[in-house]
Amino acid sequence: MGLDDDTIEERLRALEPVAMRLEVKDGQNDCTLINDSYNSDISSLDIALDFMNRRPEKEGRQRTLILSDILQSGVEPHALYTQLADLLEQRGINNLLAVGGVISAHMNCFAGLPICCRFFANTDALLQDDILSRLEHQLILIKGARKFHFERITDRLEKKVHETILEVNLSAIAQNLNYYRSFMKPETKMICMVKADAYGAGAVEVAKTLQDHNVDYLAVAVADEGVTLREKGITQGIMVMNPEMSSFSALFQYNLEPEIYSFRLLDALIYAAEHEGITNFPVHIKLDTGMHRLGFDPEKDIPRLIERLKRQTALIPRSVFSHFVGSDSDDFDDFSAKQYELFLKGSKQLQEAFPHPILRHICNSAGIEHFPDRHLEMVRLGLGLYGINSRNNETIHNVSTLRTTILQIHDVKAGESVGYSRKTILERDSRIASLPIGYADGLNRLLGNRKGYCLVNGQKADYVGNICMDVCMIDVTDIPCEEGDLATIFGDELSPAELASRCGTIPYEILTGIAPRVKRIFFEDK
Ligand SMILES: *Cc1c(COP(=O)(O)O)cnc(C)c1O
Repeated sequence: MGLDDDTIEERLRALEPVAMRLEVKDGQNDCTLINDSYNSDISSLDIALDFMNRRPEKEGRQRTLILSDILQSGVEPHALYTQLADLLEQRGINNLLAVGGVISAHMNCFAGLPICCRFFANTDALLQDDILSRLEHQLILIKGARKFHFERITDRLEKKVHETILEVNLSAIAQNLNYYRSFMKPETKMICMVKADAYGAGAVEVAKTLQDHNVDYLAVAVADEGVTLREKGITQGIMVMNPEMSSFSALFQYNLEPEIYSFRLLDALIYAAEHEGITNFPVHIKLDTGMHRLGFDPEKDIPRLIERLKRQTALIPRSVFSHFVGSDSDDFDDFSAKQYELFLKGSKQLQEAFPHPILRHICNSAGIEHFPDRHLEMVRLGLGLYGINSRNNETIHNVSTLRTTILQIHDVKAGESVGYSRKTILERDSRIASLPIGYADGLNRLLGNRKGYCLVNGQKADYVGNICMDVCMIDVTDIPCEEGDLATIFGDELSPAELASRCGTIPYEILTGIAPRVKRIFFEDK
């Protein structure tokens, strides 16, 4: 456009981010909702459509847009809605449900497009129509100016929410990924661990975000987790850390690459692959350099391993790896160095035995940061992706927020007890609030009896009494609050690492312990 670099730089710096918050929620009838019911202008719509399109989806899923009048665009309406119609066609929208007097008055701008359009004078008219209950198996983007109150539409379409929810910030996942990438050479490959439902955050949505950011591999614990990702449209390489003998056909069918840690597993997999006429199926060889959990012995097993692999064509080693036992602490630096030496020795023999390149990897999250000269060809990012630095327990970018709401508040006299087995006796007249979350949801029972706290209106409220299966009680005597108010179990202001240290465990256990029945809500902050 003939602008000089200085001008471009200056104007780029003046660009303001478009304020929006895209939420992805499960809808009724197998629909997925992408919700931004706060604003509607054409540039934020374009971002939202792009977000919708970048999400891998099952073939043939219809894309529906529910859109209000576009307000204050400064563009003459006929030109605006013509531009909008072009945009929707380009972005592959199949159905449009348009709400508002202005967009309805310009329905002729949408004539002749391969989009099925319906127009409604206002939000009530759409809510009264039975079209909403007929939406099935679709991806639905909901985008309306505030005054149209599209949250009423989202409410209708949403699967009904439980009072306790885990909010997952997908933008923070991307920021954490970039934090770790900043320690890496651009050519080093990255595996992201999405095992255990992405450390509790929700593997499908997290995997979609990671695929979007071009990570090289995703890793799951068992084949079923990989099958779920494939069924939801993930095409990236997937590694299975613990392939069960009963899952081999799923591995082949869904192209899930297993970790091989023993001769027994290797022989069984070769047998199964040969039986199905498979050749060159990629596998990842694990060496035990000191964890003594799973893996071949790098000092004893390598010649036999090479010989076994060379004697067949069903499998091909794509990578060789090991795992540090203590990269999170300087105390183990000597041990880590020994592990690394052993790994280099074992992996070198394997690499030299085959003509094709075999990738080496040994660093987990802590290792990526602590051992920048040991990244080799690939690294494996886990906890750090979910926002916790396992070297110092600090939050990088907080990903998950576990929230619930106060069910009931009681005034309880000094000397009374709270909860099972009378473990907390109140020392003063108190206000005790009950929350619909218990150990069956993943709230660690060791946090009860004032060992831990949650936040109510920004203030610390101790857990009092034993935590029950589905409910717990907190002390809100000094906190102005009422029934229905939010309580944050962990989040930006109270990290899972803090809870972990209060009940003598590690943040991994806090995150992965959040029960599947706790509804996950995903959003992107742009
Ligand atoms: C879980 C896991 C990781 C990730 O570890 P973090 O400490 O979460 O980074 C890396 N490698 C293997 C083999 C794992 O099982």
